Amino acid sequence: MQPYPELGLHIGGAWRRGRPGQPVLNPMDESLLATLPHATSDDLADAVAAAEEGFAVWRRTAPAERAGIILRAAALLRERIEEVSLAMTLEQGKPIGQSRLEVLRACDIIEWDANEGRRLYGRIIPAEPGMRHTVLREPVGVVAAFSPWNFPVSSPARKVGGALSAGCSIILKASEETPAGAVQLVQAFADAGLPPGVLNLVFGDPAAISDHLIPQPAVRLVTFTGSVPVGKHLAAMAGRHMKPAIMELGGHGPVIVCDDVDPEAVAVASVMAKSRNAGQVCVAPTRFFVHERIYERFVAAAGRRAQALRIGDGRDPASELGPLANVRRRDAMEALVADAVERGARLVAGGRRTGDRGYWFPLTVLADLPDDAQAMREEPFGPLMLIQPIRDVADAIARANALDFGLAAYAYTNSADTVAVLTDELACGNLSINHFVASVAETPFGGVKDSGYGREGGVEGLQGYTVVKCVSHRTTPLRS
Ligand code: NAD
Repeated sequence: MQPYPELGLHIGGAWRRGRPGQPVLNPMDESLLATLPHATSDDLADAVAAAEEGFAVWRRTAPAERAGIILRAAALLRERIEEVSLAMTLEQGKPIGQSRLEVLRACDIIEWDANEGRRLYGRIIPAEPGMRHTVLREPVGVVAAFSPWNFPVSSPARKVGGALSAGCSIILKASEETPAGAVQLVQAFADAGLPPGVLNLVFGDPAAISDHLIPQPAVRLVTFTGSVPVGKHLAAMAGRHMKPAIMELGGHGPVIVCDDVDPEAVAVASVMAKSRNAGQVCVAPTRFFVHERIYERFVAAAGRRAQALRIGDGRDPASELGPLANVRRRDAMEALVADAVERGARLVAGGRRTGDRGYWFPLTVLADLPDDAQAMREEPFGPLMLIQPIRDVADAIARANALDFGLAAYAYTNSADTVAVLTDELACGNLSINHFVASVAETPFGGVKDSGYGREGGVEGLQGYTVVKCVSHRTTPLRS
């Protein structure tokens, strides 16, 4: 088994070396894993031409045949789970168990999309006699997709699974920092017999690639997962060229903990959810609004569980928390913690980087956060758990809705009345009650406000890769 795959660009059904770009580092010890291949402008032009040719073939392929190929790719990915997971842990740092779960999740997403692609039904609208109005859902065309470094396999899988299942072709610009996941995903599709040009993979300077791809007339949709500033930039560019866009951007997950739940149990579940991918997750639970009657018990239990987390090499199955994925996140955590403590927050656990090499930072619990702490407003995108006391549910809702983000929100309560209020009042795309799973393959996922627009997953996600055509047909011949 290769611990780390050979990297390449995939254009028109063949692998290319590209030109040598930046090093890909292991965040655990900063050792060199590979050199990233960069696409030249000729490679990008070839990718667009290949995707156009691929689309011409794929859109005319029967949905059942398309589904068969896509399902075969998912089956191959399942077979290769150990090598794909190991490469992910090496390049991204997450513990191996989480890498395996991510591969399984990616397969589930791809499989669900493949099957649902056979059910992209249109409809017939009742009309006057001799007239028939038919609504069709057609694949939008060539998709330009940009995926991030935090989920090297499942984020590309969402975009590839959706686009291909709807009958589109795609040019994927995957993360330059965690490229192996996308390479292995694309290899599975190639081995499954996907026609050339339907799925193309490029790497390089992200701005140069988006500047090249988005204005191309052949590109008909832009999908991006990443930060709010980059998302706004790409959405504006897509708008200038009249391209629809799916924007899955940042969040600042509020968690409302009411006084009718077991504070110790919810605190432990919260630490485990926060530790997933070291908090580098757009749906990570981050701002914990805990009822004042159970506040101190919650803070103490969260602190104990955070201190007991096993930090270590992601290849060790006992590790619960790996390193952060890059030096930017570690430096950001240090700055956010220093700012919070300076403004009067109570440091309950963690708070300081560890180790001389690699980007290690422990799960950090901060209580009594003042509202003006930077971490309460900026997405930390790391292992920070920020806890504030609340008087009542109305107070919590006001705090939860106070930011420009609106992605995932969570609440713990056993009151149906409280659930009804939260459902009506929280400004978010996904609300999970009494658990921390923001979405599954069959449910739509996405944000409101600065967290973006469009959905990934579910029927809504698949429909995002289609355009509607309405055909109005007079069935009686014209007679003079
Ligand atoms: P960043 O804004 O520098 O980059 C985010 C991603 O966007 C990277 O994958 C990068 O390749 C890509 N990118 C940057 N400029 C681009 C351009 N002009 N065209 C196309 N792609 C471009 O941020 P970062 O330091 O990598 O990550 C930090 C922040 O990004 C986090 O705080 C978080 O808010 C956000 N983020 C969000 C998600 C998510 O799942 N929504 C994932 C990763 C990062």
